[in-house]
Amino acid sequence: MSGVEKTQILQKYLELDQRGSVIAEYVWIDGTGNIRSKGRTLNKKISSLDQLPEWNFDGSSTNQAPGYDSDVYLKPVAFYPDPFRRGDNIIVLTECWNNDGTPNKFNHRHEAAKLFAAHTKEEIWFGLEQEYTLFDEYDNVYGWPKGGFPAPQGPYYCGVGTGKVHARDVIEAHYRACLYAGIRVSGINAEVMPSQWEFQVGPCEGIKMADQLWMARYLLCRVAEEFAVKVSLHPKPLKGDWNGAGCHTNVSTKSMREAGGIKYIEQAISALSKRHKEHIKLYGTDNDMRLTGRHETASASSFSSGVANRGASVRVPRSVAKEGFGYFEDRRPASNIDPYLVTGIICETVCGSIDDANMTKEYEREFQ
Ligand code: ADP
Ligand code: MN
Ligand code: MN
Ligand code: MN
Repeated sequence: MSGVEKTQILQKYLELDQRGSVIAEYVWIDGTGNIRSKGRTLNKKISSLDQLPEWNFDGSSTNQAPGYDSDVYLKPVAFYPDPFRRGDNIIVLTECWNNDGTPNKFNHRHEAAKLFAAHTKEEIWFGLEQEYTLFDEYDNVYGWPKGGFPAPQGPYYCGVGTGKVHARDVIEAHYRACLYAGIRVSGINAEVMPSQWEFQVGPCEGIKMADQLWMARYLLCRVAEEFAVKVSLHPKPLKGDWNGAGCHTNVSTKSMREAGGIKYIEQAISALSKRHKEHIKLYGTDNDMRLTGRHETASASSFSSGVANRGASVRVPRSVAKEGFGYFEDRRPASNIDPYLVTGIICETVCGSIDDANMTKEYEREFQ
């Protein structure tokens, strides 16, 4: 049976009345940095987070718990309109918790949320540029000649036309699915290596940034699945003269966005330079394969910064330097980061630790 025939049969069922029931697809991050999900029926339309029940799953099947104590709990933290099922159906982003009331080892959201809650005054915004690479179901780079290579990099970045761009259908479908779900995708472009793409999400404040990025990744994997395409977040999917994939992290606080804010941008860059090693540890696995000092990257071993410099660890956009306020770009994070870890440590380095924040609050209370 052809794919078209199957789709026609499925359509008949998708049009059936759900009789008031709503399907909620619960999504979580597993112990390998991948996304898992499972669906459940709810008996009414959901309008707020507290109406969503907690749930659980078998953590021994996802690297998240031992077999003898395998229940891991799913706590809903955000929900989005479901672009696949539509109607009142939703996708629910969850945090993973252990049976003993502690956050699961791979639940990095919990700590990050605490940091952001301590720093609401700074109004920290992020914009993430998610790069990724597409493969076919047999693990060949999508659209590349069988057993060979395409012509060297050059014509592919933002490329237009046959042979210069691959899988525009997947990318377009993902873009629309994100907008339907309320994800703040700010743009999309083809990358330097053929079949490598990027979407940007943001600016979003605090914890919302990583929530939105994980949801955008989930939607990408689901859309690609329909086209029998695989999504790779590996930072160096192909050795040799092919660009790696990153997740540039653009950052600003309220004071950076106001006139004269460049002063605070410079302070932040100085703070980042002092914690380079600690940051690199959280900036993705195999990132050393990507941060070589070539292919628009800086070396992983030392920190550098510069205006308009795409070979630096941190770049200040030319327009920001000219206007004297705005944001900066941390170019070090790899495509496979957990954005909770990255936005979390950036908040800590730029705005201070939770202890610092609490001390400031106490001081203010006492001397008011
Ligand atoms: P690049 O030139 O590095 O490819 P992009 O246009 O791909 O830049 O991405 C820029 C990102 O910066 C976007 O995600 C955008 O949302 C984000 N951004 C813009 N202004 C701010 C700001 N004030 N604070 C944080 N992020 C911002
Ligand atoms: Mn970009
Ligand atoms: Mn890019
Ligand atoms: Mn960038």
